[in-house]
Amino acid sequence: MTLDLRLLRSKEGLVFLIHGPMFSGKSEELIHTLNMAQGYGGLKVQAFKQAIDQRYGNGIRSHKGLFFPASDANNTNEIKSMLDPDAQVYGISEMEFFDQDLRQFCLDLRKQGKKIILEGLVLDYRIKPFIMGQMGEETITTLDIYAISDYDIRLTAACVDCNGPAHFTRRNFYSEKQVEVGGAGLYSATCIDHHSIPRKP
Ligand code: ADP
Repeated sequence: MTLDLRLLRSKEGLVFLIHGPMFSGKSEELIHTLNMAQGYGGLKVQAFKQAIDQRYGNGIRSHKGLFFPASDANNTNEIKSMLDPDAQVYGISEMEFFDQDLRQFCLDLRKQGKKIILEGLVLDYRIKPFIMGQMGEETITTLDIYAISDYDIRLTAACVDCNGPAHFTRRNFYSEKQVEVGGAGLYSATCIDHHSIPRKP
């Protein structure tokens, strides 16, 4: 996001979403923004990381090894139970792995004047939204998180095949599951021309 500490220091509640394909620099951007909010902004920051992703151990880590301390949470309820009410800015990484309650939770914090900076994938390896869960009749997906964000930044990676702008994530192995945690090798950033969905062997 174009970092604007005036926005983060304002009184109004705001939801930010940093999204884009894998390797587009979402974690770097989240860590940078949280560091600036805490350091230069003098704001109280609390960060959460999806517990499902244990690739890099504790805290939010980028592929290049940038780090920001964060508590592991499996779901929105766990975030609620650990929430520091004095924090002014909340960072939540890998928002696509959370659940149907995340949307309302962000809206509730927003009403209290908090800033919520979400980071994650809106689209899966099939270029479809992630299904987060049901709310009555309604299916909540990552597009619903996108829809409620006040500011969103769509980051771009480099296509591994042509070096053009990559907006998509290609899965390089076959699986029927929507969620299979993995990094480089298992997934690649691609443009639309070089995107494909692995076929059943
Ligand atoms: P994300 O959280 O979006 O997966 P990270 O912030 O963890 O991304 O990592 C971004 C870094 O990944 C870049 O700085 C770059 O060094 C590296 N990288 C690896 N593959 C690519 C690619 N195809 N395009 C852009 N960056 C890439």
